[in-house]
Amino acid sequence: KTSEVTDATEVTGATYEDIGGMDEELRRVREMVELPLSNPALFRRLGIDPPKGVLLYGPPGTGKTLIAKAVANEVNAHFVSVSGPEVMSKYKGESEERLREIFNEASENAPSIIFFDEVDSLGGKRDDESDMENRLVAQMLSLMDGLESRGEIVVIGATNRVDAIDPALRRGGRFDREIEIGAPDAAGRREILEVHTRGMPLTDDVSIDRLAATTHGFVGADLHALVTEAAMAALRRARDAGSNDEELLSVEVTREDFNTAMASVE
Ligand code: ATP
Repeated sequence: KTSEVTDATEVTGATYEDIGGMDEELRRVREMVELPLSNPALFRRLGIDPPKGVLLYGPPGTGKTLIAKAVANEVNAHFVSVSGPEVMSKYKGESEERLREIFNEASENAPSIIFFDEVDSLGGKRDDESDMENRLVAQMLSLMDGLESRGEIVVIGATNRVDAIDPALRRGGRFDREIEIGAPDAAGRREILEVHTRGMPLTDDVSIDRLAATTHGFVGADLHALVTEAAMAALRRARDAGSNDEELLSVEVTREDFNTAMASVE
């Protein structure tokens, strides 16, 4: 359920199937986000407030945006995506107005997820020097406090620097749940590689297990880039060998293509 109301609205086709590894992290996100959106009455019955804000933190490229999009899509919630730095710079004098618009759009289209990427840039620690940041944090606090505790809108913030976030934004009723989205281990990398090679014609000598074992330190975005590079290497190899367009259609990605890709992404 998406609309063209603002440029911040994106069509999200992501599903849980697109996320590799992170079973436990995803389980926690679903627990905190799905129920308040899909069945807020449950919380009312128990007499507790549904979560309003969830903070996903961890290094870049680990899938924070992907998770937020997938949850929105799976529960059929309206998805409004905002980048902290963009609100700060592009809308300069109108940043506060812009924040209000975003929350309005979300409530008009509820159930909604508001996704704040790089939320630390917006809600950075307040100090005397940055007047604009002070005003934005204040605006953010008032908008989140103003969300009625009815569920139906969940704000997901993503950050690489959880400590840079103003403590007031992390208090109860705001971003009061935190989930670490860390770099994947070998098992996680294998699952991510499986997601990205799903439907890709691979020769038998390609071992996903071996790739997972040799990509220590790679996050999801790196693995996606690796797989893309390997496919491009396969195409290049076939073209260099003089394949015509029809022959290119039957090209397969080989272990050697992955080696080529490794050399280019490292
Ligand atoms: P940033 O902090 O830089 O915004 P992020 O944590 O939000 O990064 P995403 O933008 O979600 O990362 O990830 C970028 C891309 O990397 C995704 O679109 C996807 O292709 C791939 N990716 C990242 N993590 C995963 C994962 N766990 N499973 C599958 N693909 C992943």
